[in-house]
Amino acid sequence: MDPRAEQRIRALLEDTAQARGDAFFPALVKGLAQALGTRFAGLSILHGDDSLETVAFWDGQQVTSGAFQPLAGSPSADAIGAEYCVFRDHVQETFPDVPGLRGLSVRGYVGAVVFAADGQVLGVLYAMHDGPLPRAADDPALMRSIAARAASELIQNRFSAALEASEALTRGILESMSDAMVVVRVDGTVAFHNASACTLFRTDPVWLSGAALTELLPDLETAAAEIGQGDSASAFESGASLELEAHAPDGGTIPVAVTIGSFELAGERLRTVVLRDIERRRREEQRLRGYARALERANADLERQRRKAEQAAAAKTEFLANMSHEIRTPMTAILGFTDILLEDGTANAVERQDALRTIRRNGAYLLEILNDILDFSKIEANRLEIEEVPCAPARIFGDVVDLLRPRANEKKIQLVLELDGPIPERLRSDPVRLRQILLNLVGNAVKFTSAGQVGVRARYDGNDRTLEFDVEDTGIGIEEKVLAEIFEPFRQGDSSMTRRFGGTGLGLAITKRLVERLGGAITATSQPGKGSLFRVRVPAHPVESDGVSEVQEPDTPSTGRMRSALAGLRASGRVLMVEDGPDNQRVIRHVLEMAGYSVTAADNGQIGLELALAAAEEGSPFRVILMDVQMPVLDGYEATRRLRAAGYAGPIIALTAHALPSERQRCLEAGCDAFATKPIERLHLLETIALHLAKQSEEAPAC
Ligand code: ADP
Repeated sequence: MDPRAEQRIRALLEDTAQARGDAFFPALVKGLAQALGTRFAGLSILHGDDSLETVAFWDGQQVTSGAFQPLAGSPSADAIGAEYCVFRDHVQETFPDVPGLRGLSVRGYVGAVVFAADGQVLGVLYAMHDGPLPRAADDPALMRSIAARAASELIQNRFSAALEASEALTRGILESMSDAMVVVRVDGTVAFHNASACTLFRTDPVWLSGAALTELLPDLETAAAEIGQGDSASAFESGASLELEAHAPDGGTIPVAVTIGSFELAGERLRTVVLRDIERRRREEQRLRGYARALERANADLERQRRKAEQAAAAKTEFLANMSHEIRTPMTAILGFTDILLEDGTANAVERQDALRTIRRNGAYLLEILNDILDFSKIEANRLEIEEVPCAPARIFGDVVDLLRPRANEKKIQLVLELDGPIPERLRSDPVRLRQILLNLVGNAVKFTSAGQVGVRARYDGNDRTLEFDVEDTGIGIEEKVLAEIFEPFRQGDSSMTRRFGGTGLGLAITKRLVERLGGAITATSQPGKGSLFRVRVPAHPVESDGVSEVQEPDTPSTGRMRSALAGLRASGRVLMVEDGPDNQRVIRHVLEMAGYSVTAADNGQIGLELALAAAEEGSPFRVILMDVQMPVLDGYEATRRLRAAGYAGPIIALTAHALPSERQRCLEAGCDAFATKPIERLHLLETIALHLAKQSEEAPAC
């Protein structure tokens, strides 16, 4: 090579040696023009097959880039085709279609192809002059050397761009990962981490870069060693997933799912650790487990309720069948005997009496069933009212035992009442409900006993202020399985028993609920074939004796005191009976007339009101008014209210089918003096009238 050329190359290469990247090509083309003594120099690269893109072009004053021009028909196409070509002059004439040549008044041209190492054509390096090409510019060796240098820079640039793109891609992937990632060097320090790692460890990149993995995941090494059977490196190599506690620099721990791996980089085996925060998942799992447990419980509950509902439905069906039987049996007797009585003259006096007694007995039994059902539905609807009034327990026990004694005598069993120790004469409780409880228990004991005895034992616990009583029998007893259910409604020992003993299966259910409403408890023990024991405890405070207050037992059957009061009174006088039912009118009239009263009937409250006021005005008032409550036109409450408002002071006794204490209260508030229940209890009604007549004669005249 020409020594001058060599010098020029060296100078050019030295000039461009410092330039890199974007600055390199401008320096190259400028340096080339200077080295060749041309006005212009440029480097273009192939763009596709048919055009060139200017990488750098020196126009004598500045370097430009980015222009595109067609390859075909240009001197560059010749340079590429021939690897080197030179036009000393007249290049414009040779390539008349290239506007750039004309625009710059180019005359001389020299160009060399730019090859990659593998022979691929990258572009063309050229110099142009606005006069004939200087002789020194026609230097193929120089052009090739500079083209080779340009080629290596172009390749380098392309490689850098590809690398940058690839790096950007990798970084983009790593940074967009929601999982945290750390790459760890052989010495166990963090070489790389992504942004999610900072979030997970709640720290900043400065702290995390270079942190020791053992600080972040103290248990990882041991766990990996376990997986790799003593060799943690092999666990990293084969990749494994595990769950650990990550330790944040703030002292907190984070449950994480970890995936480990490793790769080789520049002779060093780096470890990768990908961490996923599973706290939320754990919480979620816990919540789900909670739901699952709650669901299981709810299912079990539902199943229990379903079974209970099925049992209840079955019990109710059975109950209806029993009810039907229980109601039809007395109805058959009532209707049958009524027919016999209606067949004129076929029955003699004794038979008639017997038939009537049977009708009476069966009617009373029907009423008992009805009361049971009503009581039970009231309890179930929570409408049963309980009172707390002074009552005489010994008298209640005595009355119930007396009442059931005939039945016990009929069955030839003994009925014994024992009072253990002193029982206060008067206690505060609900006498009606106590009597009902006792009647049910003693009634059952007598019913289910065919030999031996029924014992009622009562005692009072002064410390606990509790009345306790046992009802014990030597009857058929109750199987253990049945015993658990006898306080359930509609449950009976067994269906054959229903036939043998009768009953609705409501008695004990009512009894238990009554005891509970009184604040007490009932228990039952039994030995099949030997007998049963029912024990009741109810709180009852003693009433301090003041020598004045009356024991109030408004609904109870007659007491001795009342009976004697009645015997001492001669029933006479006019009674006004305000009652809309013709049958009831007949029955009441009969009872009152038999007792010696003369009866005037009024069909409703309005007529009653008018008759009562008229009689009082005439100076011959009725001695007592029996006032039905539910009536057409004007009901009993209103009629009474108006009578009282008109100054009527005579006794008014309400007649009502409602036996609730609240009903009694309503009657009293309307102005009644007392009330008697329907169906009419003959003796009770007469006693009530007698009592009020007696009071009246002690007090002022009626009006
Ligand atoms: P009912 O007597 O109308 O059938 P209860 O509720 O009073 O209904 O009683 C339920 C069941 O409990 C009875 O059918 C009977 O099987 C059993 N039972 C109750 N009291 C006794 C008792 N003293 N001896 C044996 N069995 C009894």
